[in-house]
Amino acid sequence: DLYNIVQDLKGNIRVYCRIRPIIGTDTRNVIDHIGGDGSLVVVDPLKPHKDARKVFQFNHVFGPTSSQDEVYKETQPLIRSVMDGYNVCIFAYGQTGSGKTHTMCGPSGGSSEDMGINYLALNDLFEISCTRKDIVKYEIQVQMVEIYNEQVRDLLTEDSSTTKLEIRNCTSNGGLSLPDATMHVVKSSMDVLDLMKLGETNRFVSATALNHQSSRSHSVLTVHVHGKDASGNILRSCLHLVDLAGSERVDKSEVTGDRLKEAQYINKSLSCLGDVITALAQKNSHIPYRNSKLTQLLQDSLGGHAKTLMFAHVSPEAHSYGETVSTLKFAQRVS
Ligand code: ADP
Ligand code: MG
Repeated sequence: DLYNIVQDLKGNIRVYCRIRPIIGTDTRNVIDHIGGDGSLVVVDPLKPHKDARKVFQFNHVFGPTSSQDEVYKETQPLIRSVMDGYNVCIFAYGQTGSGKTHTMCGPSGGSSEDMGINYLALNDLFEISCTRKDIVKYEIQVQMVEIYNEQVRDLLTEDSSTTKLEIRNCTSNGGLSLPDATMHVVKSSMDVLDLMKLGETNRFVSATALNHQSSRSHSVLTVHVHGKDASGNILRSCLHLVDLAGSERVDKSEVTGDRLKEAQYINKSLSCLGDVITALAQKNSHIPYRNSKLTQLLQDSLGGHAKTLMFAHVSPEAHSYGETVSTLKFAQRVS
């Protein structure tokens, strides 16, 4: 009935908050309380009295001691629905250093323990594909690109810094939104690890060539699933795993030229993403996909029957309080 349909649509956008452990020398913690119901209370380090506390509400909050497995467990149903034909987008949002790459890829340094969502998700997809092999034949392929200053670059090719990619529209009929980005068939988690390594190396090489930090670009790992059952029915879906550029505001009086331009591009694309998700949550008739490369690229996987999960990452230290509140406000707006 209608009530259930409405509930169902609302359930298509979820927002989780993840707080990383305190690192470094600033040990003043702004996290006042984490509720099991998804509530979060932060306190202004300069005004530590009760009325200066700010309360936020999410679908779930992961505290600093939450493990990668705990985070994955709350993400798994979404990932698994990709094998049933749903398109899914997962975003990691937050200031640089707040744990986005930790959640998506794993700890810096590339150790194979504590792997993040990208790896755990693909492992899960392989497992389902294996379990169902007598009923559905699946093929899994991946692409990986970055968006820097509103230009899309292939991260899974040798000459990543030179090739700029065009985004194709009208992909609903099974076409690809990035037909020119290298597509790799993957059959095992080893294949995935190799490609993730190549992608990360290329992201770094391209950043160096273009003279910016790799945290100033969005990286998008797209998993394409193609399934065929015994009666010839075709199922097609994709999973986008997005490690967003750092959301920190730069001080306009301190940056000029290329750095200012870069900050403005990031600002614009993150606020466009916020606008699109908010418009979807409010079921507006006009969804402003066209305003950024990121939302254009993900258009077919945002809205409709697609499912969206946003991780809002925050650093708990007092010196990050301003950015933390701005991240939490952004995330609250889209939830
Ligand atoms: P970002 O990608 O947002 O810039 P990183 O993922 O690189 O941030 O995290 C910054 C640092 O904090 C890294 O050294 C990372 O290993 C560490 N870190 C982040 N989140 C966690 C966590 N949940 N547990 C332990 N260490 C973490
Ligand atoms: Mg990062």
